Amino acid sequence: MRYSRLFIPTLKEAPAEAEAISHKLMVRAGYVRQLAAGLYIYLPLGQRVMAKINQIIREEMNAIGGQEVTMPVLNPAEVWQQTGRWDAIGDEMFRLKDRGGRDMCMAMTHEETMTWLAAHDLRSYRELPQIWYQVQTKLRDEARPKSGVLRTREFTMKDSYSFDRDDEGLDKSYQLHLEAYKKIYSRCGIKFYVVQSDTGMMGGSMAHEYMAPSPAGEDEVALCDACGYAANVELALSVPKTPNFPDGKYEEVATPEKRTIDEVTRFLKLTPDLFIKSILVMSDEGPVLALVRGDQTLHEKKLAKLIGPHRPAQKDEVKAALGVPAGFIGPMAHKIRKIADPSLRDGVYVAGANKEGYHVKGVKAGREFEAEFADIHAAVAGDACVQCGKPLRIERVIEVGNIFKLGTKYSAPLKANYLDENGAERPIVMGSYGIGPARIAAAAVEQGNDENGIIWPLAIAPYQVMVLPVNVNDGASMDAAEELYAALEEKGFEVLIDDRDERAGIKFKDADLIGIPWRVIIGEKNLKEGVVELKDRKTGVVAKVKVANAVEEIARKLVMEA
Ligand code: ATP
Ligand code: MG
Repeated sequence: MRYSRLFIPTLKEAPAEAEAISHKLMVRAGYVRQLAAGLYIYLPLGQRVMAKINQIIREEMNAIGGQEVTMPVLNPAEVWQQTGRWDAIGDEMFRLKDRGGRDMCMAMTHEETMTWLAAHDLRSYRELPQIWYQVQTKLRDEARPKSGVLRTREFTMKDSYSFDRDDEGLDKSYQLHLEAYKKIYSRCGIKFYVVQSDTGMMGGSMAHEYMAPSPAGEDEVALCDACGYAANVELALSVPKTPNFPDGKYEEVATPEKRTIDEVTRFLKLTPDLFIKSILVMSDEGPVLALVRGDQTLHEKKLAKLIGPHRPAQKDEVKAALGVPAGFIGPMAHKIRKIADPSLRDGVYVAGANKEGYHVKGVKAGREFEAEFADIHAAVAGDACVQCGKPLRIERVIEVGNIFKLGTKYSAPLKANYLDENGAERPIVMGSYGIGPARIAAAAVEQGNDENGIIWPLAIAPYQVMVLPVNVNDGASMDAAEELYAALEEKGFEVLIDDRDERAGIKFKDADLIGIPWRVIIGEKNLKEGVVELKDRKTGVVAKVKVANAVEEIARKLVMEA
């Protein structure tokens, strides 16, 4: 392709609201444009990157027996009503009515329609297993569409669905996806972790997420470098360090006007890990008292898994439920459900005295209070790994994909059954598997960039090589460039020739910005000596190559890297 013909509207400045590096660079380098909040146009370069990612995904999905289909984006409400998600999902779903007044929605995922198809057209155990996938548009009215293409309201997803006779079959389909996904992200050239994850709105029994490390990510994972334990912090288990407890005498202390852990620790000159934080929340089942150590944070999602949706209680609700003013709640003697983090099982603590202006020392689980124990604290760096005891680290990540064991959560309500060998009807056992190709692209940019622009992994770069004649008005340079360009294309490589009559500085700047992995620079002086320069965008290393060997040398580099 000729640069002069290619639409690459590069910009000097990134959009004012852009924070993520990938957002800034993909806009500046002319890959995408934002039409409205969370709605992106893919420009020619961006389109090529997406096509490459999708091609890798298709190859790996086909390799595990996946069959590509396409589901409608516009869905009738009925299928979503049958699974209960029409009501369960709130504002995130775009809804509309057709001209006949019938409720419709824009599919935000396709479990319903895929299962509908299975219900209608899979009959016998002989037809199982099946893996169906698509690379299709999804719409979600995201609360905070931001960070460029990382979280948009319309995006492409590769979603696949497995249909098996039983759990054993599902295990196999799940395993196939687990491995195929590793190949996909590896081939795309991004760094990633596979972590245990929450089953969330998908339901089901087991789930993993594929997480690309990046400060632009909205998720956090807990990782153990010693044993490989890796989990989303939403469910990561960890053992906090045990403090040195003072003696255990039960004793009331006056703490006038000292309500927060911070205020009380300073007043009593004790470290926060010697306190119990008593947090009252309001759930559908009524008030619940959550207890964590003073140095810990209650993890809302961990608690939600135990008690469902909830919110912090207001001051008057605390007074009404416990008869205690907020700031002085202790875990003792309340008749409501109490859930304590396991770190409170041993040791003696300071807690609220359930009396205005007082705290108590010497509070011990099983003695001063009873509670259910469940891990509800947020894992932090330095906590010990539950598997091996070594310290965990916490890293920010972008979720680039996930896999779920669904079981019969969708096949049961939609009656996707099959007949087994004995003619008995059984529900199909399903899995669901998603990938966000745009997030792979953005993660690649987050992980591959410098102050001058993008550094693409070779496999998903819009072009592999750029041929850059410094002076297009020099006949010899242009001849050599055209020859090289033709020869490389002949070999099947994707080549961009910068045939623009621009100053060298501008051409180099643009080349750095758009981030093509290899560049052949054809300068008049070098050419007179029979050489061209081969530059590696990633390392910046420049090698002089004889003109006669250039094609072979470049071909060797490209094949070596692939
Ligand atoms: P998140 O927690 O980030 O909102 P999700 O759990 O809602 O993601 P899924 O519904 O499982 O995501 O979708 C599968 C994949 O689709 C995700 O792993 C992600 O790569 C991608 N994806 C999800 N939402 C978006 C979005 N708004 N924009 C771009 N890609 C997305
Ligand atoms: Mg989401």
